[in-house]
Amino acid sequence: MYQASQSRYDHMIYNRVGNSGLKLSSIGLGLWNNFGSVDPIANQKAIIHQAFDLGITYYDLANNYGPEPGSAETNFSRIMATDMRPYRDEMVIASKAGYVMWPGPYGNWGSRKSIIASADQSLQRTGLDYFDIFYSHRPDPETPMEETAAALDQLVRQGKALYIGLSNYNGKQTAAMTKIFEALRTPYIIHQPRYNMFNRQAEQDLFPVLQATHKAAVGFSSLSQGLLTDKYLHGIATDSRANKQTIPFLSPVQVEQTLTTVKRLNEVAQQRGQSLAQMALAWNLRQPALASVLIGASRPEQVINNVAALGKLEFSVAELATIEQILAE
Ligand code: NDP
Repeated sequence: MYQASQSRYDHMIYNRVGNSGLKLSSIGLGLWNNFGSVDPIANQKAIIHQAFDLGITYYDLANNYGPEPGSAETNFSRIMATDMRPYRDEMVIASKAGYVMWPGPYGNWGSRKSIIASADQSLQRTGLDYFDIFYSHRPDPETPMEETAAALDQLVRQGKALYIGLSNYNGKQTAAMTKIFEALRTPYIIHQPRYNMFNRQAEQDLFPVLQATHKAAVGFSSLSQGLLTDKYLHGIATDSRANKQTIPFLSPVQVEQTLTTVKRLNEVAQQRGQSLAQMALAWNLRQPALASVLIGASRPEQVINNVAALGKLEFSVAELATIEQILAE
């Protein structure tokens, strides 16, 4: 029987999400990879236990996470039932709808029909009464924004979600959705963009919109799927995402293309007395728009290593300049 660590709140940093009442652990755990039906449940449990013991309160799901799509939510429900149920009120659990999930015209995108049905399916799979945050996973170019926003608002009115989030909307789309949510008085509080040293588009486009409207971001792929770690310094290990056949989102070619930069960044990290993963997370968290950074983990040790980033968050002006220079080359 899992017993959470008594010291779980001693070292984690909790940041307020914009001007909302909600605080998130500055590091959140994502269940996109390593929590599917193809992954051992014992390892999934170990990762969640480790995360919770270190004060991580934010757990990020989506309808399609697996593989098989949906199986991350199903596995999460098993872990909730056996281990985490006593801690439900210490957890912020999120899910999303917007990517393809079932066949036909309703299992994808952002119509009222798709969003409501998908959220209901996610609640059933997870066995939860409600999600703390429910996201529109991506903008739907063919559905009026008002319809997607109204469907999300309905989830809140029905008690199926406490807060609403957007993901992968650009700055302009986010500004338009924010206006609609304001008119509906929807508790839209958070945005989930990709953000890491290799993907900085949000700095120019999205973050100014979030700051002007008092919302916050939680960044995804904070370690660029593992590229921004010391993992690939000596080649592609068999137990790495770039070698995984089930979710082919990171390729050996991407590893090759970034290796020179990664090696140089790793030197800066070593000079700071941190692992590259720790420096990359600290660097993300320097962004005032970010309340939290999501990490993925294939084993509990990675969670320990990543949370230790909080031990050194500050950067000197010279360090920031060196990192900028490396990234610009
Ligand atoms: P990361 O960029 O954190 O990559 C995670 C991977 O990096 C791990 O699976 C592991 O890979 C490797 N890794 C992590 N820590 C270390 C370490 N300390 N040392 C060495 N390697 C390490 O995150 P993800 O790309 O997985 O994204 C995180 C979460 O963000 C997702 O789970 C999901 O919740 C969310 N997300 C949201 C999206 C959206 O559209 N809204 C899209 C993508 C993600 P390995 O398996 O090789 O060990």
